[in-house]
Amino acid sequence: MSEMQEPRRPLLDPSVAEGGEAALRPARLQDFVGQRAVCENLQVFVEAARGRGEALDHVLLFGPPGLGKTTLAQIVAKELNVGFRATSGPVIAKAGDLAALLTNLQANDVLFIDEIHRLSPAVEEILYPAMEDFQLDLIIGEGPAARSIRIDLPRFTLVGATTRSGLLTTPLRERFGIPLRLQFYSPEELTAIVARGGRLLGMPLTEEGAFEIAKRSRGTPRIAGRLLRRVRDFAAVAGVDSITRQAADAALSRLDVDPMGLDAMDRRYLACIADTYEGGPVGAETLAAALSESRDTIEEVIEPYLMQLGLIQRTPRGRMLAPNGWKLLGRTPPRDLQK
Ligand code: ADP
Repeated sequence: MSEMQEPRRPLLDPSVAEGGEAALRPARLQDFVGQRAVCENLQVFVEAARGRGEALDHVLLFGPPGLGKTTLAQIVAKELNVGFRATSGPVIAKAGDLAALLTNLQANDVLFIDEIHRLSPAVEEILYPAMEDFQLDLIIGEGPAARSIRIDLPRFTLVGATTRSGLLTTPLRERFGIPLRLQFYSPEELTAIVARGGRLLGMPLTEEGAFEIAKRSRGTPRIAGRLLRRVRDFAAVAGVDSITRQAADAALSRLDVDPMGLDAMDRRYLACIADTYEGGPVGAETLAAALSESRDTIEEVIEPYLMQLGLIQRTPRGRMLAPNGWKLLGRTPPRDLQK
């Protein structure tokens, strides 16, 4: 569906607080597994801001989808004991939309803007003085009757999230005092997340069962939660009362998730570079067209994990299959890659 046809989403995103994933969202920093350095830094900045009774400096979270950016933004608001509003870049169509959000904030509130790299330039322009001086400069009316008005805003914390920091304009990036990069989670961290999810969903899991799901979750808590729910469905239908390694393995194999966590789409991507483009280099746009996927999905969802596993390489001329990628496909790499 094109963006033009998309029904207009509400400015505030209620699903962040109430959606299907909400049940698994940790509410406090102490329950947030992994991202040690990020959490330790946030803890210090939050305590300092709370001690001074001031708004926390603006925070920019970047990292692939599903690593916990929204969750962390909510936790920051809870830890600061302030209000939380969530929206996203694409739904703030006009300067007036942003003005409506900002003027409704209470002092020290957290405003979370997901996909902040997708704000329009006109809206970004309004955001700069709002972030820096807590002032809104708006033009009212058109033509000769137009006049500009200035509105004072309460001090607030903007938490921006983006999948790739490179997509942000430099002036916007520079206005965040606290930039934080989230990393993929280790299998051990994901095991703890899966075990916690199992407890919350009332689904008994053995340690090996949790590890099996964790290992196949592409380093991503959102995927771990999703796989856990699907494994639970298979277990319920099979009448299994505790998820063991075998039960998890059987369910995940039926879901076509391989032992490394790669799914059918990942394998199609790798095979496409190998077969159609002889291992690359091939550009993202070409691959997106060949796979009938959006370029964003290729760059933000598929590639980061394949790169982390060392299966592909990104070069200035495009993507290339790495020797490990050839090995995974069970093929022999072209001669110049074998050395
Ligand atoms: P993002 O905003 O980066 O796309 P979310 O914050 O929406 O990711 O997280 C996706 C899901 O993963 C949520 O259900 C959340 O509860 C869970 N999750 C993310 N990070 C963690 C974590 N560190 N510990 C436990 N659960 C997490």
